[in-house]
Amino acid sequence: MNDRVENTMIQEARHFETDLAVIGSGLAGFAASTFALNRGIRTAQAGNTGAVAYTTGYLDLLGRVHNEDVCPVTDPWQGLRQLRQSQPLHPMARVSEDDLRAAFREFTSFISDCGIIYNAPGQFNATALTPAGTLKPTLCVPATMQAGVDALARKARCVIVDFKGLRGFSARQVVANLKDTWPELRAERVLFPEMETGEIYPEVMARALEVPAHRQALAERIRAVVGDAEVIGVPAVLGMHNPDLVMAEMMRLLGRPIFEIPTMPPSVPGIRLREMFEQVFPQKGLVLIPQQKVDKVVFNADDLQLSLSDNFGPITIRAKAVILATGRFLSGGLTAAIDGIREPLLGLPVTQTASREDWYHLQYMDKRGHEIHRTGIEVDDKFRPLGENGQPVNDRLFAAGLILAHQDWIRGRCGAGVALASAYKAVEAVQELLR
Ligand SMILES: Cc1cc2nc3c(=O)[nH]c(=O)nc-3n(C[C@H](O)[C@H](O)[C@H](O)COP(=O)(O)OP(=O)(O)OC[C@H]3O[C@@H](n4cnc5c(N)ncnc54)[C@H](O)[C@@H]3O)c2cc1C
Repeated sequence: MNDRVENTMIQEARHFETDLAVIGSGLAGFAASTFALNRGIRTAQAGNTGAVAYTTGYLDLLGRVHNEDVCPVTDPWQGLRQLRQSQPLHPMARVSEDDLRAAFREFTSFISDCGIIYNAPGQFNATALTPAGTLKPTLCVPATMQAGVDALARKARCVIVDFKGLRGFSARQVVANLKDTWPELRAERVLFPEMETGEIYPEVMARALEVPAHRQALAERIRAVVGDAEVIGVPAVLGMHNPDLVMAEMMRLLGRPIFEIPTMPPSVPGIRLREMFEQVFPQKGLVLIPQQKVDKVVFNADDLQLSLSDNFGPITIRAKAVILATGRFLSGGLTAAIDGIREPLLGLPVTQTASREDWYHLQYMDKRGHEIHRTGIEVDDKFRPLGENGQPVNDRLFAAGLILAHQDWIRGRCGAGVALASAYKAVEAVQELLR
């Protein structure tokens, strides 16, 4: 009884008035809020924990045009021209090259300014290392991973170091997969300071390396195995809030470049981005309601209202426009049931195969990809979701990111491309509406 009284006492309804509400805190939601802030649009963002914590940290524009293509795309801008021809309904096919370049430039420069340095988008894809030691094309990499891209390109004398007790990352596996093309690569294992026994986790290691004494201790252990290596690769654990400083300090202590390789999810580079946005956005005036799901959206004649709640009670957000960036199945933006796929928040029509039998081909590794990975909602050129009648559901409703139909971002290696392109155009359309 006392508990209940106490609980009632701290519950307090909160209400926010704003111009734009963003639903979702994956890359698309964060990018939409970034673009909105840069344009002076008053914004509130609400999002549950999402797939951003799984991402490698690489920002892919386009790595493959057709599912069956054997070779990855080296010039993604050229690839986009082909994509426009062959997949005109692909969300990135609706966005001009200039806008795509601008979106990548603006996003990478924002996060760099906020403390996680990324390279600006260039003309060509970089070839980057995956957690398993395979290679993937990507456009922008965090500065903590750049030395790995460079070392791979010149096949430098390199040692990959892993840590006893860290699952899902094996230096030996990376070396085994790359040895044929990168002969000067070798593997070593060390004990992570003060985490010498049992299982250890990248997130905890990254936070530990924010402390100078831990860096010093780790550098001593790595120094013992570094031999004649010109450059050192480690799993992505070089700090959580100051990765560039941690990397620079490790470089100083070891006297040679050190780089990160992404680990299996949940991955530090994604958590870094999420924590950075959660810290920076409120400082820049954005109302952020993290780790919560929006339950309801009601559209009125002149505005709309979002409802959600957290531990402190119910929250309502009244806005002039809303961007839906709730992702696909992993994040709950779409749900799959025996009788079909739904968009659960607004009940938007979902483009999908006629039958559940057609979601997947028989072979998991089928080169054509699986139809379920193209499922999603339809939008017009302003990224407004369309109803059954092919018309925008509401002039105040926009959508961005993986929830959009006609893109298989996994095979296309275009996760960030879809997210940034659609968020950029959706915010542009919101700005027009607000005018
Ligand atoms: C394992 C893995 C590896 C990846 N690696 C790469 C990579 O190397 N390069 C790359 O470019 N991309 C990569 N991606 C993809 C990248 O993470 C996505 O492109 C990116 O996150 C954009 O997705 P999104 O924002 O549209 O959706 P998501 O990231 O899925 O985010 C959707 C968000 O909406 C929230 N949400 C859902 N419903 C509600 C609701 N009702 N109310 C509030 N919030 C809600 C979710 O909780 C989540 O925060 C990877 C993804 C995964 C899963």
